[in-house]
Amino acid sequence: MPELPEVELVRRALAQEVEGVTIEAVAFSDFVVNGHQIGRRTIVKEDLGAFGPRVHGAAIRKIGRRGKYLYFIMEKSGEVFHMISHLGMSGAYFVRDSVESITDANYRKHWQVVFRLADGRALIYCDIRRFGEMATVGRMGDFPPFTRMAVEYTDPDSLPEFLDRAKAPANSNKAIKAVIMDSSVIPGVGNIYASEALFTAGILPTRKAGNVSVARLVDLHRAITDVFNLSIESGGSTISDYRGVSGEKGSMQDRFNIYQKKTCRACGGPIRTKTIATRNTFYCTRCQR
Ligand SMILES: [Zn+2]
Repeated sequence: MPELPEVELVRRALAQEVEGVTIEAVAFSDFVVNGHQIGRRTIVKEDLGAFGPRVHGAAIRKIGRRGKYLYFIMEKSGEVFHMISHLGMSGAYFVRDSVESITDANYRKHWQVVFRLADGRALIYCDIRRFGEMATVGRMGDFPPFTRMAVEYTDPDSLPEFLDRAKAPANSNKAIKAVIMDSSVIPGVGNIYASEALFTAGILPTRKAGNVSVARLVDLHRAITDVFNLSIESGGSTISDYRGVSGEKGSMQDRFNIYQKKTCRACGGPIRTKTIATRNTFYCTRCQR
């Protein structure tokens, strides 16, 4: 599943390709159409009859990111709205002349939404497992996941907000790993970067948040910030299904200290695994307390 750095890289690549371009037509795959016919709202989380006409003829003014969501600021006949997109487990965008020019056969086969652009190209959303989501809203605040989301890690208020929310009484008995994966504490931390940041900060993922001192939480926020920035510089991590807009692979997976490792790089001891917040967690009991 792409986490914040991978989504940020998608945003940067898409911004270069499609900002300023107008959408001339929208097409949906049979998976999406059939899903909607049986009331499942596959990928597009609003009626196709509303989504299609709204996006049709809209100019993509800017592409932003909130946590693991992309948002496209759209403008049509003087009205501004947002198209919000989550890549789910395996979503990917391609900008190509046509679906046929996507070289990866698995993605090509699983195209889901095609936005035909005025310059002749197409913005193509592919999703093999179809856990991705797309919807339009008038204002960002109209989208429920954004209402409780903490500010971005790059915002100067991120650290004080992180401390306040991680120290909230409701979180004191929860594992610190589960707490940092909550977007109301800090947005965008998924399973991989939670394990990596906790290792860097020397904090055991199972430790109750209430038993982590403020000084150590400051270290943890720093570790999250550093691992996000390092991953973005490294082109993100490519594990399982994730690919960038042009199909390239990142190299962050080569820089992991603990995720999917057997031996600790710092002390040489065995790395342990445990399920926390439904996800497999990697840690070293010698280096993390
Ligand atoms: Zn160790």
